[in-house]
Amino acid sequence: MTRFNFATLIALPLAILAFGSGHWGVARVVILILLILIGLGSAIPQMRFFGPMVCQGKSSRRCVALTFDDGPDARSTPKLLQLLRNLGIKAAFFGVGRRVAENPELAAWIVSEGHLLENHSYEHSNLTNVFSVIRLRDDLRRAQQAIQKATGILPRFFRPPIGLTNPRVFRVARDLGLTVVGWGAGGLDTQLTSSERIVNRITRRLKPGAIILLHDGNIPDERLVTTVKMLLERLRTLEYEVVRLDQLLK
Ligand SMILES: [Zn+2]
Repeated sequence: MTRFNFATLIALPLAILAFGSGHWGVARVVILILLILIGLGSAIPQMRFFGPMVCQGKSSRRCVALTFDDGPDARSTPKLLQLLRNLGIKAAFFGVGRRVAENPELAAWIVSEGHLLENHSYEHSNLTNVFSVIRLRDDLRRAQQAIQKATGILPRFFRPPIGLTNPRVFRVARDLGLTVVGWGAGGLDTQLTSSERIVNRITRRLKPGAIILLHDGNIPDERLVTTVKMLLERLRTLEYEVVRLDQLLK
């Protein structure tokens, strides 16, 4: 049973009981609390409110995984791939299906370097979280097909756009054999402009098994390269080993 189901099972009978016995104020408060929980649960992946979202690896060793959302991008992806190759790091890229279809050679390059290329929806619509089951399934399936066509490999992981979830997300992901993946150490790198602040923010959220979130394409490529270099130095200093996402989740 999900936390959403549990909260609903408690709140709805309580609200009906309160309403039926004339305690309208109590009923309103219960419904308000449920709505607040639903809002928070949609927006905060780490709450795992609607389903089994993976935000943390099982590793008890000092291992972390790097993930990059929103690529591939003709400006930043080649620079990022070169940097990761020089440093011997394997990462997971949560690619946007439409961008994969537009840049199939970049998608194939990502995989040929030993990185994962996973599903981050096809359109990356800000409205993904209000899509019907049919539309959501179509969007995710198109991304699966675009990535498989470009790389020959079918993704196993899905990260919802903006990290927003609801029960339909987990249902569709399960139907397509996808594990829903969030993160635990986000850099807010699309909003913060200083690499140092981004790295400091991630550092504060680090722990063994942490899934680190950065972006490939939605930020200036110089900032991305500087941030990744600085972050990997910091991880080395703190004696964290970077492993690929699938290894972190084993
Ligand atoms: Zn995204």
